Amino acid sequence: MPLFRRDLIAGAAGIEGLGYQTSSRATSATQQADVAIVGAGLSGLVAARELRRKGLSVHILEARNRTGGRMIRRKTKTGAVIDLGGQWGGATHHRFQSLVEELGIKTFPCYYDGKGVLIWDGERVEANLANKPSNSVLLFDDKQINQPVEDIAKAKAAMKAFRALADSIDPAKPWNAPNAKELDRTSIRAWCEQNSQSRLSDFELEWLSVVGGSGGFDPWDASILHLAWTQSVAPQDEGPESWLVQGAAGQVAECLTTELNSVISLSAAVHKISQSENGVIVNYGDEKSLEAKTAIVAIPPPLRQRITFSPELPSETRSFLQRSPMGSMIKVFAIYKTAFWRHKNLNGFAVGNLKTLELTADSSLPSGTPGILASFVTSSTAVAFQQFSDAEKRKAILDDLIAYWGPEAGRPEELLWENWNAEFWSTGAFTSFVTPGAWTTYGQRWQESHGRIHWAGTEASTRWPGYFEGAIEAGLQAAKKAMKHS
Ligand SMILES: Cc1cc2nc3c(=O)[nH]c(=O)nc-3n(C[C@H](O)[C@H](O)[C@H](O)COP(=O)(O)OP(=O)(O)OC[C@H]3O[C@@H](n4cnc5c(N)ncnc54)[C@H](O)[C@@H]3O)c2cc1C
Repeated sequence: MPLFRRDLIAGAAGIEGLGYQTSSRATSATQQADVAIVGAGLSGLVAARELRRKGLSVHILEARNRTGGRMIRRKTKTGAVIDLGGQWGGATHHRFQSLVEELGIKTFPCYYDGKGVLIWDGERVEANLANKPSNSVLLFDDKQINQPVEDIAKAKAAMKAFRALADSIDPAKPWNAPNAKELDRTSIRAWCEQNSQSRLSDFELEWLSVVGGSGGFDPWDASILHLAWTQSVAPQDEGPESWLVQGAAGQVAECLTTELNSVISLSAAVHKISQSENGVIVNYGDEKSLEAKTAIVAIPPPLRQRITFSPELPSETRSFLQRSPMGSMIKVFAIYKTAFWRHKNLNGFAVGNLKTLELTADSSLPSGTPGILASFVTSSTAVAFQQFSDAEKRKAILDDLIAYWGPEAGRPEELLWENWNAEFWSTGAFTSFVTPGAWTTYGQRWQESHGRIHWAGTEASTRWPGYFEGAIEAGLQAAKKAMKHS
């Protein structure tokens, strides 16, 4: 669960960019480096830094006119600093934690004191968060959520069966799991129908697909094998939303950009990568090229399809990419003078089967001033939501916020949302997912380098893919592979 658009949007007029570097646009027709890196998100930036530390020359080509990709912060008109993309660090996100520390950036624990709120079929309960997975339903203490004992038992049994499934999966080779083909042909929704027999446990599993972990896809979009794989590589029981960055996570990308500024070209969309026995030629922008010994492509998998590879990628790989779309995701912020819920012994965490918001989470600074609730509209709900007028969007969000947190929640100083589906160089979020049948039919070569071309980007990792941690891991792994060619 992630306790957890610039086509910005209502309330967006007051949002200013926070000083990410506008580094040089490429001017000469052909440049050279040991390693060409496509994409200046966290993964590409980390790969570049690592390679430079090993004495190699690098050049990063970034399609947007900014760096950071899905890691981007903004200052709002009331002065709050928010992450439009990723924000949380996890208890076992050791690489991300080390990087943040190395950059001298401060962090603080997320606010989980007091009770959260569950709304189920219109009934609102305040409950403590569970202290261990075995007594948890939807992250709450099962004894406090006011649901029939038999429904709770069914929900826990279904989650137990699902966890066992996740434990049986090799993160690098999900197609080797027992009964993998059958599981890969079974949608999450169909598996729930066979195994859960309770709407509460259906909701818990389906919530994992719409917002938990990888997030952004409906339970009919992916197989139960894929959902179990997401838990084997990014276990939600390990607390992925444990800490926040003082001043927002986006500054990590800004710091790395400052360090690498001289080797980054912005507005440099790569459209072709050709390779020979001796090296690669990367074509970008209008008739510009970069010659290198090897290339790292650090972009989300579906976007690899916008690049022409010569020689072409293996056909299974192309088929797998066609079946790896991004999730649908809109991040919402409600900003208040103070975190008023804290004064009522409430922690700002809410879940429920409401119409629009999948969850809310306290994203304020430790002081609670201003009070910030982050939230998400996801999957098919996000697709319908993005077609609403701004007034309809605002109403839909406020209705849910009021249901969770009372009338005060209906009077935010600012309400803003970022539609990642509308971002051409992301096309969705948090990450990509895999459609039913694709892992076992086309997935076997998903991590294989294509000659001198190595894959990075968070999705290329087998530990916390979809997260900052996975982006770092994948960047370091790709750097290691690129060194062999340099
Ligand atoms: C709303 C939201 C909430 C999230 N919450 C969390 C969280 O709380 N914690 C967490 O750990 N993670 C979270 N994530 C995920 C996290 O932000 C990403 O996993 C991470 O930032 C991905 O980094 P990346 O470098 O792999 O990819 P990206 O950030 O997507 O970077 C890829 C870069 O490549 C560029 N590019 C694409 N195509 C081309 C091309 N052809 N030529 C040149 N450049 C190209 C793009 O413009 C982009 O800058 C969240 C993401 C979103 C959007």
